[in-house]
Amino acid sequence: LPTVAIVGRPNVGKSTLFNRLVGKKLALVDDRPGVTRDRREGEAELFGLEFRIIDTAGYEDEDPQTLPGRMRKQTEAAVREADVALFLFDSREGITSLDEEIGRWLRVSKTPVVVVGNKAEARSGQAGVLDAYRLGLGDPVAISAEHGEGIAGLFEALLPLLEREGADEPEIEDEEPDSGAPLKLAIIGRPNAGKSTLVNRMVGEERLITGPEAGITRDSISIDWEWQGRPVKIVDTAGLRKRSKVTDKLEKLSSADARRAIDMAEVVVLLLDATRGLEAQDLRIAEQVIDEGRALLIAINKWDVAENASSLFNGVKAALEEGLAQIKGIPVLTVSAKTGKGIDQLIGAAFEVREQWSRRIGTGELNRWFEAAIETNPPPAPGGKRIKLRYITQVKSRPPSFVVFGTRVSELPESYRRYLLNSMRRELGLGPVPLRMTLRSPKN
Ligand code: GDP
Repeated sequence: LPTVAIVGRPNVGKSTLFNRLVGKKLALVDDRPGVTRDRREGEAELFGLEFRIIDTAGYEDEDPQTLPGRMRKQTEAAVREADVALFLFDSREGITSLDEEIGRWLRVSKTPVVVVGNKAEARSGQAGVLDAYRLGLGDPVAISAEHGEGIAGLFEALLPLLEREGADEPEIEDEEPDSGAPLKLAIIGRPNAGKSTLVNRMVGEERLITGPEAGITRDSISIDWEWQGRPVKIVDTAGLRKRSKVTDKLEKLSSADARRAIDMAEVVVLLLDATRGLEAQDLRIAEQVIDEGRALLIAINKWDVAENASSLFNGVKAALEEGLAQIKGIPVLTVSAKTGKGIDQLIGAAFEVREQWSRRIGTGELNRWFEAAIETNPPPAPGGKRIKLRYITQVKSRPPSFVVFGTRVSELPESYRRYLLNSMRRELGLGPVPLRMTLRSPKN
């Protein structure tokens, strides 16, 4: 993850901003000795943009005489390590001499700086923000960390700086078909659907599961192998090990197993049993996969013994279209773990869907589609005032995640958001993968 450091003199609200960005995720307190002693680190998420954040607060209760020296050391250490520095000041007070000094340290560092005027919830604060232009560190952003205002503006300032960082994250490399990282595949489904048989067949060895082994931990285990020269990693096979006889109690898919597998995978195959069809519980699991933002494939196993194959297939298709309204056209494949038929097609489909799931769409293409979509079907005007949508940006892939900026977006009906998603899926060829779209108004 890219790293963002929050710097600034005492009392400008660094910790408040830190807490807001880290949100409910636990803030890690770093107690290594030395310069890092006083800082907190955490993982932050801002409209889908993820980064590590360092808060340099902590020296504030100490002796004011030696403060600037220690602060400088802290600040420089944090900034050296960071991809972006957020330089926080108190907009009610404007730029103080200490702020100017910090500004001097930051101007000579190579790390990009975003100047942030905090406590800008009142009008008087807004004026103080403008004072920061004289720092020569670019346009200041006005926020109120305490009231959660201006956070979208902060996002807009951070996005281009962090995206550039994000571009060399290994996760995105595997958009290249052959040289990519292993396909992380999970195979889930109810007991007896044939998961173990399928994995054994794929991997081509009987090494996977041969009866309950005493003392085996339930920790995640993965299997690395190659399919047509391309690496595949089947994640969390621990759930498959449990081969005890299927009792009524076990006739439920262990939700902990499923959750863990979904967590670790890029693509999840939900395996159905042709002799049983699609059941309500399968739909719930499919929903869970989509909610978690993973690419989903449905495979009907035991196709070798399927009766009324075509009506079974169509029935599963129809139930999915109806039950999973979020995504139309989730691929349904048929396999026989026993004979091996259909397995190549299944893995091929998994690679394909991962590519769609990893897609990045250029801002130009995205906004050309966006403008056309809005023109074709303009957003509604509740109370006679039209909701204005200004632009869209992709904040990440895997799954493709977008933020739409506009005014009064909180009044936009869910049906309109769905219209945008469907249009986008169709016009930009995004495929049957989960998409995320959040709406933001820069002023709140
Ligand atoms: P798991 O609980 O999902 O891991 O299911 P298993 O792999 O243990 O398989 C359950 C039962 O279904 C076993 O008796 C398998 O031999 C059988 N089975 C698995 N795949 C197939 C298949 O493709 N065709 C047929 N006819 N039987 C299968």
